[in-house]
Amino acid sequence: MCKYCKTTPLFEIGGTEFELKPTAGFKNDRKYSAWIMKGQADEKAGIMISTNGGNAVYFDINYCPQCGRKLGD
Ligand SMILES: [Zn+2]
Repeated sequence: MCKYCKTTPLFEIGGTEFELKPTAGFKNDRKYSAWIMKGQADEKAGIMISTNGGNAVYFDINYCPQCGRKLGD
């Protein structure tokens, strides 16, 4: 377990935000956030991606991309 896939009181997994690096030409007009999250009722952990702290999109993952720990099950 690492800081990106740690267990929290609120979520089964609620990790530290990833450090996002800008690509060449990135216009710094919005703030992206990404982190790993898994609620108690969620079947799989996901990587959440949010813009300006608003509603997020996500995709499912089976392993932590930082430490390789198997997530869920
Ligand atoms: Zn991890």
